[in-house]
Amino acid sequence: MVQENYREVEARVKAACERCGRKREEVTLIAVSKTKPAEQIRELAAIGVRDFGENKAQELKEKTEQIPEALNWHFIGNLQTNKVKYVVGRACLIHSVSSLHLAEAIQKEAKKKNLFCPVLVEVNIADEETKSGIREEDAVALVRQVAEMPNLQVRGLMAIAPPVEDPEENRLYFREMRRLAAALDTMGIPGVRMEELSMGMTGDFEVAIEEGATMVRVGTAIFGERKKPS
Ligand SMILES: *Cc1c(COP(=O)(O)O)cnc(C)c1O
Repeated sequence: MVQENYREVEARVKAACERCGRKREEVTLIAVSKTKPAEQIRELAAIGVRDFGENKAQELKEKTEQIPEALNWHFIGNLQTNKVKYVVGRACLIHSVSSLHLAEAIQKEAKKKNLFCPVLVEVNIADEETKSGIREEDAVALVRQVAEMPNLQVRGLMAIAPPVEDPEENRLYFREMRRLAAALDTMGIPGVRMEELSMGMTGDFEVAIEEGATMVRVGTAIFGERKKPS
């Protein structure tokens, strides 16, 4: 079932790339496996899927222990500073750096483990009170601060767009993210590379690809509905 779903999503990603004249390799499809069992992750790994997304530090730790295979684990959730130790060294990319405080905790842990940790800065693009992410007007300052941290590298930006009925409603937010990334790029902040734009989920990933997403995070369309709200 998950294999079939994945293939369908993959076909939609490919079609979206073709529609807007992008190469399929420009977009990483991340299978968001949060709350789902290791068995389903193994099923996908068996057909060559390598990129998975998790949003809880403890769950990431458990899954990497259950599945020793070399997979690319993306950390996409709210991260508390006391849980940073579970994520640094396990995640290939932390998508959700949204405060100086958190970045400092990641820097400290990465230094302790003598690791280099690529991160994305999460932007609260729709300025929703309930959403995580730094406000757009504060994003440049945070990128500059993280750029100073020797064990961190800013690879781009991440956003969670609002839940909408019609994905077209989020097109402007995705476009704004791309504009912000381009603006940051022209600032030429040393050590900052705006290579990745992580945006688009089950409800809107095709529009996100059309607007320049390089990573889409898809859970429900691959694994089905989640029981727990998260
Ligand atoms: C759960 C989650 C997703 C996947 O959401 P779906 O709508 O199930 O595709 C993507 N990004 C983040 C940050 C998430 O927490």
